[in-house]
Amino acid sequence: MSDSDDNANNLPDGQIENGHVPADSRSDRARDRRSENGQECDQFDIDLPTSHRYLGKLDNVTGYAFYDDGEITTLAAIQTNTLVFPGFTLPLVLNNDLEINMLQRHTQKKNAFVLLTPNKNFKGIFPFGVIMEIFETHLRNDVLYLKARSRQRCRLIPGKEIKTLIGELYQVTVKVMLEPPITSPIYNTQLNSLKIHRMYKCTEYREFCKCRKYRQYHLSQYPLAGWVYDKHEMCFLLDQLIRGLSSYYLIEFVPDDPVQLSYWFVQNFQLRHEERLKIMVLGTAVERLRLELKYLNMKRLICCANCDAEIAQQNDVFPMSKDGVQSNYCNPGGYVYETVTVSEATNFNLVGPPSAQFSWFPGYSWTIMQCKMCSSHLGWKFSSVSLKPDSFYGLAKSGFDVKIVDEGSDNL
Ligand SMILES: [Zn+2]
Repeated sequence: MSDSDDNANNLPDGQIENGHVPADSRSDRARDRRSENGQECDQFDIDLPTSHRYLGKLDNVTGYAFYDDGEITTLAAIQTNTLVFPGFTLPLVLNNDLEINMLQRHTQKKNAFVLLTPNKNFKGIFPFGVIMEIFETHLRNDVLYLKARSRQRCRLIPGKEIKTLIGELYQVTVKVMLEPPITSPIYNTQLNSLKIHRMYKCTEYREFCKCRKYRQYHLSQYPLAGWVYDKHEMCFLLDQLIRGLSSYYLIEFVPDDPVQLSYWFVQNFQLRHEERLKIMVLGTAVERLRLELKYLNMKRLICCANCDAEIAQQNDVFPMSKDGVQSNYCNPGGYVYETVTVSEATNFNLVGPPSAQFSWFPGYSWTIMQCKMCSSHLGWKFSSVSLKPDSFYGLAKSGFDVKIVDEGSDNL
Protein backbone atom coordinates (compact mmCIF):
# COMPACT_ATOMS: atom_id res chain seq x y z
CA MET A 1 0.00 0.00 0.00
CA SER A 2 1.30 3.41 -0.84
CA ASP A 3 0.36 6.77 0.63
CA SER A 4 2.52 8.84 -1.67
CA ASP A 5 1.56 10.10 -5.08
CA ASP A 6 4.46 8.25 -6.73
CA ASN A 7 2.15 5.50 -7.85
CA ALA A 8 -0.36 7.85 -9.39
CA ASN A 9 0.80 7.31 -12.93
CA ASN A 10 1.55 3.62 -12.98
CA LEU A 11 -1.36 2.43 -15.09
CA PRO A 12 0.36 0.55 -17.90
CA ASP A 13 0.30 2.25 -21.28
CA GLY A 14 -2.52 1.08 -23.48
CA GLN A 15 -4.57 -0.30 -20.61
CA ILE A 16 -8.30 0.18 -20.36
CA GLU A 17 -9.49 0.40 -16.81
CA ASN A 18 -13.18 -0.20 -16.16
CA GLY A 19 -14.46 1.60 -19.19
CA HIS A 20 -12.03 4.49 -19.38
CA VAL A 21 -10.42 4.82 -22.78
CA PRO A 22 -6.91 6.28 -22.53
CA ALA A 23 -6.46 8.96 -25.17
CA ASP A 24 -3.36 7.37 -26.67
CA SER A 25 -4.65 3.80 -27.13
CA ARG A 26 -8.36 3.37 -27.55
CA SER A 27 -8.31 -0.06 -29.12
CA ASP A 28 -5.97 -2.03 -26.87
CA ARG A 29 -7.94 -4.00 -24.32
CA ALA A 30 -5.09 -5.98 -22.83
CA ARG A 31 -5.09 -6.02 -19.05
CA ASP A 32 -1.97 -6.45 -16.98
CA ARG A 33 -2.81 -8.61 -13.98
CA ARG A 34 0.50 -8.00 -12.23
CA SER A 35 1.49 -5.09 -10.05
CA GLU A 36 4.98 -3.55 -10.09
CA ASN A 37 6.34 -6.03 -7.55
CA GLY A 38 5.16 -8.96 -9.69
CA GLN A 39 2.25 -9.94 -7.40
CA GLU A 40 -0.95 -11.25 -9.08
CA CYS A 41 -3.68 -8.60 -9.02
CA ASP A 42 -7.39 -8.91 -9.65
CA GLN A 43 -9.34 -6.35 -11.59
CA PHE A 44 -11.62 -4.41 -9.25
CA ASP A 45 -15.28 -5.44 -9.53
CA ILE A 46 -17.19 -2.26 -10.36
CA ASP A 47 -20.44 -3.77 -9.08
CA LEU A 48 -19.12 -3.47 -5.50
CA PRO A 49 -19.35 0.33 -4.92
CA THR A 50 -23.01 0.42 -6.01
CA SER A 51 -23.81 -2.09 -3.23
CA HIS A 52 -22.41 0.40 -0.63
CA ARG A 53 -21.07 -2.47 1.49
CA TYR A 54 -19.42 -0.04 3.92
CA LEU A 55 -22.93 0.61 5.33
CA GLY A 56 -23.05 -3.00 6.60
CA LYS A 57 -25.84 -5.50 6.00
CA LEU A 58 -29.19 -3.83 5.41
CA ASP A 59 -32.73 -5.24 5.17
CA ASN A 60 -34.70 -5.17 1.94
CA VAL A 61 -37.73 -2.92 1.80
CA THR A 62 -40.43 -3.27 -0.84
CA GLY A 63 -43.68 -1.54 -1.63
CA TYR A 64 -42.93 1.52 -3.75
CA ALA A 65 -45.95 2.42 -5.87
CA PHE A 66 -45.23 4.37 -9.07
CA TYR A 67 -46.99 7.68 -9.33
CA ASP A 68 -48.96 8.73 -12.41
CA ASP A 69 -48.00 11.65 -14.60
CA GLY A 70 -49.28 14.89 -13.06
CA GLU A 71 -50.23 13.23 -9.77
CA ILE A 72 -49.93 15.52 -6.78
CA THR A 73 -48.62 14.02 -3.56
CA THR A 74 -47.26 15.13 -0.19
CA LEU A 75 -44.04 13.46 0.96
CA ALA A 76 -41.16 13.90 3.38
CA ALA A 77 -38.15 15.55 1.76
CA ILE A 78 -34.40 15.65 2.35
CA GLN A 79 -32.08 18.31 1.01
CA THR A 80 -28.49 17.44 0.13
CA ASN A 81 -25.95 19.19 -2.09
CA THR A 82 -26.14 16.31 -4.50
CA LEU A 83 -28.46 15.61 -7.39
CA VAL A 84 -29.59 12.12 -8.34
CA PHE A 85 -31.31 11.37 -11.64
CA PRO A 86 -33.77 8.47 -12.11
CA GLY A 87 -32.08 5.07 -12.03
CA PHE A 88 -29.24 6.10 -9.71
CA THR A 89 -28.67 5.33 -6.01
CA LEU A 90 -28.18 7.50 -2.91
CA PRO A 91 -26.82 6.12 0.39
CA LEU A 92 -27.76 7.91 3.62
CA VAL A 93 -26.64 7.69 7.26
CA LEU A 94 -28.77 9.40 9.92
CA ASN A 95 -27.36 9.82 13.45
CA ASN A 96 -29.99 12.02 15.06
CA ASP A 97 -32.77 10.20 17.02
CA LEU A 98 -35.40 12.83 16.29
CA GLU A 99 -34.61 12.88 12.54
CA ILE A 100 -34.66 9.08 12.40
CA ASN A 101 -38.06 8.89 14.13
CA MET A 102 -39.51 11.61 11.94
CA LEU A 103 -38.25 10.04 8.69
CA GLN A 104 -39.46 6.58 9.69
CA ARG A 105 -42.88 7.94 10.57
CA HIS A 106 -43.22 9.79 7.27
CA THR A 107 -41.95 6.99 5.02
CA GLN A 108 -43.76 4.11 6.74
CA LYS A 109 -46.67 3.96 4.30
CA LYS A 110 -45.28 5.28 1.04
CA ASN A 111 -41.69 4.09 1.33
CA ALA A 112 -40.51 7.16 -0.55
CA PHE A 113 -39.19 10.65 -0.01
CA VAL A 114 -38.33 13.62 -2.20
CA LEU A 115 -34.68 14.55 -2.71
CA LEU A 116 -34.26 18.30 -2.98
CA THR A 117 -31.24 20.12 -4.34
CA PRO A 118 -29.99 23.70 -3.92
CA ASN A 119 -30.66 26.27 -6.63
CA LYS A 120 -27.83 27.54 -8.82
CA ASN A 121 -26.49 30.00 -6.20
CA PHE A 122 -26.73 27.38 -3.43
CA LYS A 123 -28.93 29.87 -1.56
CA GLY A 124 -32.34 28.27 -1.74
CA ILE A 125 -34.17 25.15 -2.83
CA PHE A 126 -34.49 24.34 -6.52
CA PRO A 127 -38.15 23.85 -7.49
CA PHE A 128 -37.48 20.47 -9.17
CA GLY A 129 -36.53 17.26 -7.38
CA VAL A 130 -36.78 13.50 -7.59
CA ILE A 131 -38.87 10.94 -5.75
CA MET A 132 -36.60 8.37 -4.10
CA GLU A 133 -37.61 4.80 -3.30
CA ILE A 134 -36.10 3.40 -0.10
CA PHE A 135 -35.04 -0.14 -0.97
CA GLU A 136 -32.75 -1.11 1.90
CA THR A 137 -32.59 0.10 5.48
CA HIS A 138 -31.27 -0.91 8.89
CA LEU A 139 -31.19 0.68 12.35
CA ARG A 140 -27.98 -0.24 14.19
CA ASN A 141 -26.71 1.33 17.45
CA ASP A 142 -29.13 4.26 17.05
CA VAL A 143 -27.83 5.00 13.54
CA LEU A 144 -30.13 4.59 10.54
CA TYR A 145 -28.45 3.36 7.35
CA LEU A 146 -30.49 3.43 4.18
CA LYS A 147 -30.20 3.19 0.43
CA ALA A 148 -32.63 4.87 -1.89
CA ARG A 149 -33.02 4.78 -5.65
CA SER A 150 -34.20 7.73 -7.71
CA ARG A 151 -37.45 6.81 -9.44
CA GLN A 152 -39.39 9.75 -10.85
CA ARG A 153 -38.82 13.44 -11.37
CA CYS A 154 -41.16 15.91 -9.69
CA ARG A 155 -41.80 19.59 -9.32
CA LEU A 156 -42.65 21.54 -6.17
CA ILE A 157 -46.13 23.03 -6.35
CA PRO A 158 -45.67 26.82 -6.53
CA GLY A 159 -47.10 28.62 -3.51
CA LYS A 160 -47.22 25.50 -1.34
CA GLU A 161 -45.25 25.82 1.87
CA ILE A 162 -42.04 23.80 2.35
CA LYS A 163 -42.64 22.71 5.92
CA THR A 164 -39.56 22.02 8.06
CA LEU A 165 -40.11 18.85 10.05
CA ILE A 166 -36.74 18.85 11.81
CA GLY A 167 -33.16 19.76 10.76
CA GLU A 168 -32.78 18.98 7.05
CA LEU A 169 -36.06 17.09 6.90
CA TYR A 170 -39.00 18.77 5.22
CA GLN A 171 -42.50 18.02 4.04
CA VAL A 172 -43.34 19.08 0.50
CA THR A 173 -46.18 18.77 -2.00
CA VAL A 174 -45.00 17.81 -5.47
CA LYS A 175 -46.39 17.15 -8.93
CA VAL A 176 -44.97 14.04 -10.61
CA MET A 177 -43.36 14.46 -14.08
CA LEU A 178 -43.32 11.46 -16.39
CA GLU A 179 -41.54 11.09 -19.69
CA PRO A 180 -43.78 11.72 -22.70
CA PRO A 181 -43.58 9.14 -25.51
CA ILE A 182 -40.77 9.78 -28.02
CA THR A 183 -42.05 10.95 -31.40
CA SER A 184 -40.64 12.60 -34.47
CA PRO A 185 -41.23 16.37 -34.89
CA ILE A 186 -43.00 15.65 -38.18
CA TYR A 187 -44.88 12.57 -36.99
CA ASN A 188 -48.25 14.33 -36.83
CA THR A 189 -48.02 15.44 -40.44
CA GLN A 190 -47.45 11.92 -41.72
CA LEU A 191 -50.24 10.10 -43.54
CA ASN A 192 -51.86 7.40 -41.45
CA SER A 193 -51.24 4.87 -44.20
CA LEU A 194 -47.50 5.59 -43.94
CA LYS A 195 -47.37 5.59 -40.17
CA ILE A 196 -47.56 1.80 -40.11
CA HIS A 197 -44.03 1.80 -41.55
CA ARG A 198 -42.98 3.80 -38.47
CA MET A 199 -40.46 5.61 -40.61
CA TYR A 200 -40.65 8.82 -38.59
CA LYS A 201 -40.68 7.14 -35.22
CA CYS A 202 -37.58 5.04 -35.43
CA THR A 203 -34.96 5.47 -32.76
CA GLU A 204 -32.27 3.57 -34.70
CA TYR A 205 -30.14 5.92 -36.76
CA ARG A 206 -29.40 3.21 -39.34
CA GLU A 207 -33.15 2.60 -39.88
CA PHE A 208 -33.70 6.32 -40.11
CA CYS A 209 -31.10 6.62 -42.88
CA LYS A 210 -32.82 3.83 -44.83
CA CYS A 211 -36.05 5.90 -44.93
CA ARG A 212 -34.27 9.06 -46.01
CA LYS A 213 -35.63 9.07 -49.58
CA TYR A 214 -39.29 8.90 -48.49
CA ARG A 215 -38.59 11.39 -45.75
CA GLN A 216 -37.21 13.89 -48.27
CA TYR A 217 -40.41 13.61 -50.38
CA HIS A 218 -42.41 14.39 -47.28
CA LEU A 219 -40.19 17.27 -46.15
CA SER A 220 -40.29 18.97 -49.55
CA GLN A 221 -43.61 20.57 -48.52
CA TYR A 222 -41.90 22.53 -45.70
CA PRO A 223 -39.94 25.76 -46.03
CA LEU A 224 -36.73 24.72 -44.25
CA ALA A 225 -34.06 22.32 -45.48
CA GLY A 226 -34.44 18.65 -44.50
CA TRP A 227 -31.38 18.61 -42.23
CA VAL A 228 -33.03 21.18 -39.94
CA TYR A 229 -35.77 18.63 -39.12
CA ASP A 230 -33.24 15.79 -38.93
CA LYS A 231 -31.47 17.56 -36.09
CA HIS A 232 -34.60 17.29 -33.95
CA GLU A 233 -34.92 13.55 -34.44
CA MET A 234 -34.14 11.38 -31.44
CA CYS A 235 -32.05 8.89 -33.40
CA PHE A 236 -29.86 11.69 -34.79
CA LEU A 237 -29.16 13.13 -31.33
CA LEU A 238 -28.61 9.67 -29.87
CA ASP A 239 -26.11 8.78 -32.57
CA GLN A 240 -24.19 12.06 -32.18
CA LEU A 241 -24.03 11.87 -28.41
CA ILE A 242 -22.88 8.24 -28.32
CA ARG A 243 -20.21 8.99 -30.94
CA GLY A 244 -18.98 11.94 -28.85
CA LEU A 245 -18.98 9.93 -25.62
CA SER A 246 -17.00 7.11 -27.23
CA SER A 247 -13.92 9.39 -26.97
CA TYR A 248 -14.17 9.15 -23.18
CA TYR A 249 -15.91 5.85 -22.38
CA LEU A 250 -16.09 2.31 -23.64
CA ILE A 251 -19.27 2.16 -25.64
CA GLU A 252 -20.70 -0.83 -23.72
CA PHE A 253 -20.87 1.38 -20.62
CA VAL A 254 -23.05 3.95 -22.40
CA PRO A 255 -26.80 3.15 -22.45
CA ASP A 256 -28.48 3.30 -25.86
CA ASP A 257 -31.96 4.03 -24.53
CA PRO A 258 -32.56 7.77 -25.08
CA VAL A 259 -34.15 8.47 -21.69
CA GLN A 260 -31.55 6.47 -19.77
CA LEU A 261 -28.75 8.08 -21.75
CA SER A 262 -30.04 11.57 -20.98
CA TYR A 263 -29.86 10.75 -17.22
CA TRP A 264 -26.60 8.79 -17.47
CA PHE A 265 -24.93 11.76 -19.13
CA VAL A 266 -25.71 14.05 -16.19
CA GLN A 267 -24.33 11.51 -13.71
CA ASN A 268 -21.19 10.83 -15.73
CA PHE A 269 -20.14 13.91 -17.63
CA GLN A 270 -18.41 16.73 -15.78
CA LEU A 271 -21.03 19.46 -15.64
CA ARG A 272 -21.41 22.59 -13.54
CA HIS A 273 -24.27 22.53 -11.01
CA GLU A 274 -26.22 25.14 -12.99
CA GLU A 275 -25.85 23.08 -16.18
CA ARG A 276 -27.27 20.03 -14.43
CA LEU A 277 -30.21 22.08 -13.15
CA LYS A 278 -30.91 23.28 -16.72
CA ILE A 279 -31.09 19.66 -17.88
CA MET A 280 -33.28 18.69 -14.95
CA VAL A 281 -36.12 21.04 -15.87
CA LEU A 282 -36.37 19.82 -19.47
CA GLY A 283 -39.44 17.65 -19.94
CA THR A 284 -38.42 15.44 -22.86
CA ALA A 285 -35.40 13.31 -23.68
CA VAL A 286 -34.99 15.12 -27.04
CA GLU A 287 -34.57 18.48 -25.30
CA ARG A 288 -32.14 17.03 -22.78
CA LEU A 289 -30.00 15.26 -25.41
CA ARG A 290 -29.81 18.43 -27.52
CA LEU A 291 -28.48 20.43 -24.59
CA GLU A 292 -26.14 17.61 -23.56
CA LEU A 293 -24.67 17.47 -27.05
CA LYS A 294 -23.86 21.17 -26.73
CA TYR A 295 -22.22 20.59 -23.32
CA LEU A 296 -20.26 17.63 -24.68
CA ASN A 297 -18.54 19.87 -27.24
CA MET A 298 -17.19 22.21 -24.55
CA LYS A 299 -13.66 21.55 -23.30
CA ARG A 300 -13.50 21.39 -19.52
CA LEU A 301 -10.98 21.23 -16.67
CA ILE A 302 -11.44 20.08 -13.09
CA CYS A 303 -10.09 22.83 -10.80
CA CYS A 304 -9.90 23.51 -7.07
CA ALA A 305 -13.17 25.18 -6.02
CA ASN A 306 -11.28 27.59 -3.76
CA CYS A 307 -8.22 28.74 -5.73
CA ASP A 308 -8.84 27.51 -9.30
CA ALA A 309 -5.67 25.34 -9.42
CA GLU A 310 -5.94 22.62 -12.06
CA ILE A 311 -6.57 19.24 -10.44
CA ALA A 312 -7.48 16.90 -13.30
CA GLN A 313 -8.33 16.86 -16.98
CA GLN A 314 -11.61 15.71 -18.43
CA ASN A 315 -9.86 12.70 -20.02
CA ASP A 316 -8.74 11.52 -16.58
CA VAL A 317 -12.23 10.57 -15.39
CA PHE A 318 -12.99 6.87 -15.40
CA PRO A 319 -15.63 4.70 -13.73
CA MET A 320 -14.87 2.66 -10.62
CA SER A 321 -18.57 1.94 -10.15
CA LYS A 322 -21.27 0.42 -12.34
CA ASP A 323 -23.14 3.73 -11.97
CA GLY A 324 -20.31 5.51 -13.80
CA VAL A 325 -17.59 7.99 -12.98
CA GLN A 326 -19.69 9.98 -10.54
CA SER A 327 -21.49 8.39 -7.60
CA ASN A 328 -22.78 9.36 -4.19
CA TYR A 329 -21.17 7.95 -1.07
CA CYS A 330 -21.84 8.63 2.58
CA ASN A 331 -19.36 8.99 5.47
CA PRO A 332 -20.06 7.78 9.04
CA GLY A 333 -21.10 11.33 10.00
CA GLY A 334 -23.95 11.22 7.49
CA TYR A 335 -22.40 13.62 4.98
CA VAL A 336 -23.11 12.64 1.37
CA TYR A 337 -20.18 13.13 -0.99
CA GLU A 338 -20.75 13.15 -4.69
CA THR A 339 -17.47 11.69 -5.86
CA VAL A 340 -15.82 11.64 -9.28
CA THR A 341 -13.14 9.01 -9.89
CA VAL A 342 -10.05 10.04 -11.87
CA SER A 343 -6.97 8.04 -12.84
CA GLU A 344 -4.58 10.97 -12.53
CA ALA A 345 -4.51 14.19 -10.55
CA THR A 346 -2.13 17.06 -9.98
CA ASN A 347 -1.47 19.94 -7.54
CA PHE A 348 -2.39 18.08 -4.36
CA ASN A 349 -0.81 16.88 -1.09
CA LEU A 350 -1.72 13.75 0.85
CA VAL A 351 -2.55 14.20 4.52
CA GLY A 352 -2.27 11.52 7.23
CA PRO A 353 -1.89 7.79 6.91
CA PRO A 354 -4.07 5.60 4.66
CA SER A 355 -7.14 4.03 6.25
CA ALA A 356 -9.40 1.16 5.15
CA GLN A 357 -12.19 2.13 7.56
CA PHE A 358 -15.61 2.71 5.92
CA SER A 359 -13.91 2.51 2.51
CA TRP A 360 -16.35 3.06 -0.36
CA PHE A 361 -14.22 0.83 -2.62
CA PRO A 362 -13.75 -2.56 -0.91
CA GLY A 363 -10.06 -3.59 -0.94
CA TYR A 364 -8.81 0.02 -1.17
CA SER A 365 -7.46 2.29 1.55
CA TRP A 366 -8.05 6.01 1.39
CA THR A 367 -5.81 8.98 2.17
CA ILE A 368 -7.08 12.56 2.35
CA MET A 369 -6.11 14.85 -0.55
CA GLN A 370 -5.67 18.59 -0.11
CA CYS A 371 -5.00 21.29 -2.65
CA LYS A 372 -1.25 22.06 -2.84
CA MET A 373 -1.95 25.80 -3.24
CA CYS A 374 -4.68 26.51 -0.67
CA SER A 375 -4.99 23.30 1.44
CA SER A 376 -8.72 22.90 0.68
CA HIS A 377 -10.09 19.38 0.91
CA LEU A 378 -10.22 17.86 -2.59
CA GLY A 379 -11.04 14.21 -1.96
CA TRP A 380 -9.11 10.99 -1.38
CA LYS A 381 -6.43 8.88 -2.96
CA PHE A 382 -7.45 5.19 -3.00
CA SER A 383 -4.73 2.58 -3.09
CA SER A 384 -4.57 -1.21 -3.00
CA VAL A 385 -1.80 -3.83 -3.10
CA SER A 386 -4.02 -6.60 -4.47
CA LEU A 387 -6.33 -4.91 -6.96
CA LYS A 388 -6.10 -3.24 -10.33
CA PRO A 389 -5.94 -0.31 -10.74
CA ASP A 390 -3.57 -0.09 -7.77
CA SER A 391 -4.43 3.56 -7.19
CA PHE A 392 -6.89 6.19 -8.28
CA TYR A 393 -8.44 9.38 -6.89
CA GLY A 394 -11.95 10.14 -5.69
CA LEU A 395 -12.58 13.87 -6.03
CA ALA A 396 -15.37 15.30 -3.87
CA LYS A 397 -17.74 17.44 -5.92
CA SER A 398 -17.80 19.96 -3.05
CA GLY A 399 -14.02 20.47 -3.45
CA PHE A 400 -13.79 21.19 -7.16
CA ASP A 401 -15.30 23.31 -9.88
CA VAL A 402 -15.67 22.44 -13.52
CA LYS A 403 -14.06 25.22 -15.56
CA ILE A 404 -15.06 25.62 -19.19
CA VAL A 405 -11.90 26.42 -21.17
CA ASP A 406 -13.41 26.23 -24.65
CA GLU A 407 -17.09 26.78 -25.45
CA GLY A 408 -16.79 24.57 -28.55
CA SER A 409 -18.82 25.07 -31.68
CA ASP A 410 -22.58 24.99 -31.38
CA ASN A 411 -23.45 23.11 -34.54
CA LEU A 412 -27.03 22.33 -33.58
ZN1 LIG B 1 -6.89 25.30 -4.03
